[in-house]
Amino acid sequence: LVVLENVNKHFGPLHVLQDIDLTIARGEVVVVIGPSGSGKSTLCRTINRLETIDSGVIRIDGKPLPAEGRDLARLRAEVGMVFQSFNLFAHKTVLQNVALGQVKVRKVPRREAEEKARQLLDRVGVGNQADKYPAQLSGGQQQRVAIARALAMDPKVMLFDEPTSALDPEMINEVLEVMQQLARDGMTMVVVTHEMGFARSAANRVLFMADGRIVEQATPEQFFTAPKSDRAKDFLSKIL
Ligand code: ATP
Ligand code: MG
Repeated sequence: LVVLENVNKHFGPLHVLQDIDLTIARGEVVVVIGPSGSGKSTLCRTINRLETIDSGVIRIDGKPLPAEGRDLARLRAEVGMVFQSFNLFAHKTVLQNVALGQVKVRKVPRREAEEKARQLLDRVGVGNQADKYPAQLSGGQQQRVAIARALAMDPKVMLFDEPTSALDPEMINEVLEVMQQLARDGMTMVVVTHEMGFARSAANRVLFMADGRIVEQATPEQFFTAPKSDRAKDFLSKIL
């Protein structure tokens, strides 16, 4: 569903993504881990073209990423992204946050968009918060709204960049549970996270990145019990 071929990206002299080859199948859940600065966020951001690439090809459903304009807006809808900071519209209600993209990008009638927004808010467990503003919600609730907002566009793939890193510990699980359910429902997902419990239980594949390269990829079982590279062994010894 998502294919990266020989992708390279520089920030000035820094070679942040080096010869990345990656194929993600429909319904696959790929967890990306690795040290700070290894290029995990950049990898995610290139997949929905928040960052351009210097060479290589990225295809979603066989189509190369569009460069600009209307096609780019459509791509952004197809590739849902959830960030560490929830990035909700502060001056819109929770319901409006989830309904807005459908109305603006998809030209869905407002009534219909709001109906779907309510269903999605129920699905992520915040249906009773629909008429509040983001600041009136806990961090965990806001992040679940952000997930609902991305889902409202019927994405083909969902990218999560450290979705629980900004949350208080007691709120992490409520967000991970929503993501687990999404994975069980068959969503194709790329998840950058330090939550190794989630990686073990939800991932089909773990990618370990270091210095802009995919150093190792394996099933969570293989990766956590028998990492092959020294970089991965070293990394795991520090976080587990
Ligand atoms: P972290 O775990 O800290 O989030 P990461 O693996 O997500 O790290 P990236 O954010 O992808 O790492 O960054 C990779 C490298 O690229 C880092 O050295 C970072 O400083 C650099 N970098 C990221 N964005 C930019 C930018 N817009 N301009 C210049 N350098 C950047
Ligand atoms: Mg990052």
